[in-house]
Amino acid sequence: SPFQLDRESTVNDILQANRSAMKRLQDSMPAVLEKSGKGQSPHTLWVGCSDSRVNECTTLGCVPGEVFTLRNIANLISYQDFSSMSALQFAIDVLKVKRIIVCGHTDCGGVWAALSSKKIGGVLDNWLAPVRQIRAKNLATLKSIEDPFDKCTKLSELNIANSISEIRKHPSFVTASKHNGLEILGFIYDVKTGLLREIET
Ligand SMILES: [Zn+2]
Repeated sequence: SPFQLDRESTVNDILQANRSAMKRLQDSMPAVLEKSGKGQSPHTLWVGCSDSRVNECTTLGCVPGEVFTLRNIANLISYQDFSSMSALQFAIDVLKVKRIIVCGHTDCGGVWAALSSKKIGGVLDNWLAPVRQIRAKNLATLKSIEDPFDKCTKLSELNIANSISEIRKHPSFVTASKHNGLEILGFIYDVKTGLLREIET
């Protein structure tokens, strides 16, 4: 396995993995931690899925300090959710990021679940309700796609576009895009290749 840790890892394994990782970072780019110690000034807000395969720094080859991150199941932006509202407000008003990236991905578990009407139970049905609404609004488009994997990718794309349109309504975004040139980009990450594809919004 290429993994550094596994289900049997102990506290010592975790601490050892941390020390090794930070030694590699310190040896290759000593300026990174030195800069980190003095505060953060990230250029980008990344809105992504919690999926373990899609990590913003790995995807972009960025280092600590570059990307402020909001990740949740299916990269959703909701005005009922304090977490996404706070992340947007803080990244835009306080950190003054220059761009927002909304990144969904192929084979998204949240999107797969939303393609089915079957209840999951717990709070997940509430959380995924917006994705099910997008599915309902685009039923004809989705029905025309036969391959289930492609259908899932299409709903991921529609969901990314929806999160972007929600962000565009946020008062902080409205102000910053007018006065500070804040831009917003949508991408879908292919879990088989690790590559991003820009999606039209
Ligand atoms: Zn996902």
